[in-house]
Amino acid sequence: MFETLTEQPADKILQLMQMYREDPREGKIDLGVGVYKDATGKTPVMRAIKAAEKKLWEEQDSKAYTGLAGDPAFADAMINLVLSDSVARENIAAVATPGGTGAVRQAFELARLAKSDVRVFVSDPTWPNHVSILKYLGIEVVTYRYFDGETRGVNFEGMVEDLAKAGPGDIVLLHGCCHNPTGANLNLTQWQEVVDLLNKTGSVPMIDIAYQGFGDGLEEDAAAVRLVASSVPECLIAASCSKNFGVYRERTGLLMSIAADASKTKLNQGTLAFLNRQNYSFPPDHGARVVTMVLNDPALRADWQAELEEVRTSMLGLREQLASELQRLSGSDRFGFIAQHRGMFSRLGASAELVQKLREDHAIYMVGDSRLNIAGLNKTSVPILAEAIIKVGI
Ligand code: PMP
Repeated sequence: MFETLTEQPADKILQLMQMYREDPREGKIDLGVGVYKDATGKTPVMRAIKAAEKKLWEEQDSKAYTGLAGDPAFADAMINLVLSDSVARENIAAVATPGGTGAVRQAFELARLAKSDVRVFVSDPTWPNHVSILKYLGIEVVTYRYFDGETRGVNFEGMVEDLAKAGPGDIVLLHGCCHNPTGANLNLTQWQEVVDLLNKTGSVPMIDIAYQGFGDGLEEDAAAVRLVASSVPECLIAASCSKNFGVYRERTGLLMSIAADASKTKLNQGTLAFLNRQNYSFPPDHGARVVTMVLNDPALRADWQAELEEVRTSMLGLREQLASELQRLSGSDRFGFIAQHRGMFSRLGASAELVQKLREDHAIYMVGDSRLNIAGLNKTSVPILAEAIIKVGI
């Protein structure tokens, strides 16, 4: 049977990581893979997570199965973190999933189960996994204009024009904050326009929020999700804990499904649990449990928030340093967008050839679409990157 298999396309970022590892040059800079790195290049276990894990090890006396939806306390804590009280709890069904990717995958499956010919509108560009999972599931993908190659901001006019073509029951996939891969985001006035459009077309928003706390702050980064979720009848939200809790490999995420009226919540909850059962049965518990402990213990929560804030402000500092270094070297404001972008990524808007030149001539690795991971930088490497950017002619 295996003779019928064909090679699957390799993940470009993983390929890039491999090339980076094999590069013998000293001083090489990795701005590729999407994990947070501190100034020493490490991806640390956050202090509060470590403390919660210690406590869990001491106190946990069983590893028997949880429910199909995971521990309800995890859902409650995460719903509170993402939505606060913007939506009535009784309208929300939620299940734990293996990471944000698991939540995204289950959301797509739910949409297809509800509407077999569902179309999913995705931003151009979006996180490549969105498109590859949709294609794998045989779901029609429609792109909407998003990134403006000139300003490196959002082409909002184009976005609105394209989203007007979505029909009732189509899914519109939106990044809650810190757009990956561009770093360009809507302001709240624009979000309100998107909400009006969703309500006009009857299309259903699906919000992927994977970087809450990495942009403008925990509350600020959730503002758009809360606005959308409280203004439309139905909504799907895929939340990841990988980045903001630093629990990447524990595979910790939550899928929320919000219904217009609470009488549908039981059906939604049952459907989400059913989908978990079909795909992997019980979701992973360790990451979800420590995240719950951190969120529900005031001291751990305060320490987590403080460390997350350090992470956020260090990335903002690097953005500002890079933008001002580039302003100095180029004598122009054309790189100001780097300080405007939010989250871990910025898309430079450079050609694949120039990205390759950065790699070959300067040992600087970024994804081919010119996405750079800001967290891959530190105070010393920022001027090196800025000089290389100017030298290759970006
Ligand atoms: N959505 C987006 C936009 C992301 O960037 C990521 C992380 N790369 C995820 C979802 C999910 O990440 P994970 O499955 O590791 O939680």
